[in-house]
Amino acid sequence: MRVLITGAAGFLGSHLCDRFLAEGHQVVGLDNLITGSTRNLEHLAGNPDFLFLRHDISNYTFVPGPVDAVLHFASPASPIDYLQYPIQTLKVGSLGTHNALGVAKAKNARFLLASTSEVYGDPLVHPQREDYPGNVDTIGPRGVYDEAKRFAEALTMAYQRTHGMQTRIVRIFNTYGPRMRLDDGRVVPNFVSQALRGQPLTVYGDGSQTRSFCYVSDLIDGIYRLLNSDFGEPVNIGNPKEMTILEFAQHINALTNNPAGIVYEDARIKGDPQTRQPDISRARALLGWEPRVSLEKGLAATIDYFQERVKVS
Ligand code: UDP
Repeated sequence: MRVLITGAAGFLGSHLCDRFLAEGHQVVGLDNLITGSTRNLEHLAGNPDFLFLRHDISNYTFVPGPVDAVLHFASPASPIDYLQYPIQTLKVGSLGTHNALGVAKAKNARFLLASTSEVYGDPLVHPQREDYPGNVDTIGPRGVYDEAKRFAEALTMAYQRTHGMQTRIVRIFNTYGPRMRLDDGRVVPNFVSQALRGQPLTVYGDGSQTRSFCYVSDLIDGIYRLLNSDFGEPVNIGNPKEMTILEFAQHINALTNNPAGIVYEDARIKGDPQTRQPDISRARALLGWEPRVSLEKGLAATIDYFQERVKVS
């Protein structure tokens, strides 16, 4: 296959490029580099099966040559990033998804949308199944991301139903691993870099909010399987092992022998979801997928990566 990956220089996009190349496919990677970094792709320089195009998918997009699959991963994705780029976030979820679907349609390619657990908002149902329609504040600070992704899902389903296209939607839950940006503001880079610098970990609120963390290689495997499946409705991919943010902080301090402890700060962003845990029955049944990498192993690899990044920062 020859696949187009938007957001190729991002955390997930770059790991996807690696996976498709490792499977013997050709990859065209697209990124406007507002939150992505070419550092995530520098190991692919000179690879004849990889082509990088610096381009904003929210603008008209022409991709030369055949394309068999389009994976639309371009978007600011951390709360800090989408607060900094609210309009770009709305544009890439709407106009960008429209253009990416247009490329897929023109090339007769499969299309896979990177959606998110944020479509469930601050959920009133726990754990979240794909048929839960969500609880989103349209005008809250997270609305720019949540509504962009909800629109992107609606547009994807409209292209599937109207044009008979092969489309897939993955709802991605919290994911971590090497190539996350040190300053993206999310909990894993924040906690790990604070711990490696011997600083106290900043827990927002009282730390009772929960998240479930999936290691990046597990997530990429779920996405690869979903693309190759014949299922056209959304599928949650994430790790159902849930914990409070306070427990997570204590865990990271223990793993890094950080004596500095924890400080409590006010939540930086209104509308912080209080609980989040994927119901992955659909992925298990349809894709035979479930996460395999333990938090210990995943965090060890992530801490190794951040050790290097903290040194150069
Ligand atoms: N969080 C925290 N301290 C930090 C960064 C994040 O306590 O330094 C909390 C945040 O309030 C949220 C959770 O960790 O409850 C996960 O935040 P993240 O930004 O990683 O992503 P989210 O799951 O909210 O999209």
